[in-house]
Amino acid sequence: ERIVTSTADDLERAAEAALRPRRLEEFVGQLVVRDQLSLVLQAAVARGATPDHVLLSGPPGLGKTTLAMIIAAELGTSLRVTSGPAIQHAGDLAAVLSSLEEGEVLFIDEIHRLARPAEELLYVAMEDFRVDVVVGKGAGASAIPLSLPPFTVVGATTRAGLLPAPLRDRFGFTGHLDFYSAEELERVIIRSAGLLGVEIKHAAAHEISGRSRGTPRIANRLLRRVRDWAQVRGDGTMDLRAARAALEVYEVDELGLDRLDRAVLGALCTRFGGGPVGLSTLAVTVGEESETVETVAEPFLVREGLIGRTPRGRVATPAAWAHLGLTPPDPLTP
Ligand code: ADP
Repeated sequence: ERIVTSTADDLERAAEAALRPRRLEEFVGQLVVRDQLSLVLQAAVARGATPDHVLLSGPPGLGKTTLAMIIAAELGTSLRVTSGPAIQHAGDLAAVLSSLEEGEVLFIDEIHRLARPAEELLYVAMEDFRVDVVVGKGAGASAIPLSLPPFTVVGATTRAGLLPAPLRDRFGFTGHLDFYSAEELERVIIRSAGLLGVEIKHAAAHEISGRSRGTPRIANRLLRRVRDWAQVRGDGTMDLRAARAALEVYEVDELGLDRLDRAVLGALCTRFGGGPVGLSTLAVTVGEESETVETVAEPFLVREGLIGRTPRGRVATPAAWAHLGLTPPDPLTP
């Protein structure tokens, strides 16, 4: 199963890579972050110095990795990529850091998942451009300070709140990516269709954009599924009919909710009478980790007004009941 999964992931990644904007001006939407980042980068280039470390936060698929690549490209330097979960020991991070060349950008995805010792090593490296390499073991161990050339860390996290304050403070610039508007996603889709060399009717792009959960990664994925449908079951034209039919095959509903979103809403309404219910209970019920429910499903459901967060837990709104085609329990009947 693992091999199959990783192959599918690799294909997905390759398909994604082909559609990534390479420069800041190609990056659709996120005007505030783009403008701020552009200033940070231009100033650094003008001074001939490395820019401050950059933290990017926001739900998956909104462009954090893409921006990290763009930062390196705009600085005319190379990008090194790692992630919190990939770094098992502080020594792994020390090895990565000590191999960096001057001015390089180090992208650390899911930075909130770094283990504590690695995190501590990272503070020092970010602040003083130094790693302490420990040699020997036990009482005879000693730390040899190794100075590093200046570099820039770009950290990505699904929620900046998950980062310990000392680490958060080491970033001179924090950009928060928000869900994209349907109009912005339409531009992403039309741009991607152009890169794929296919023509898409405006109505089809519009239909896909409204069902992409405010997320460019999903918009691009749905575009590829619509292309499949048009090729195999249609006459090759990516029109509204093809878009609607493909979205139906892939069970994307009118709001763009996916299986996890619907599982969360369904559990909230049918198992817990609409709540309030605690996050961890809800996560166990849908068979996911709390962090996944909290950072992947919840932000969009909250934004769409389908669930609310209260001090006593998550609650379903009337819109959630309506979306599932259910009637909320009458509060007057016990
Ligand atoms: P994240 O790292 O936040 O999970 P990515 O940077 O991997 O997201 O983006 C996912 C996909 O969405 C990429 O293939 C990229 O092409 C596309 N994408 C993301 N943001 C934009 C954008 N602003 N404009 C165009 N395409 C985008």
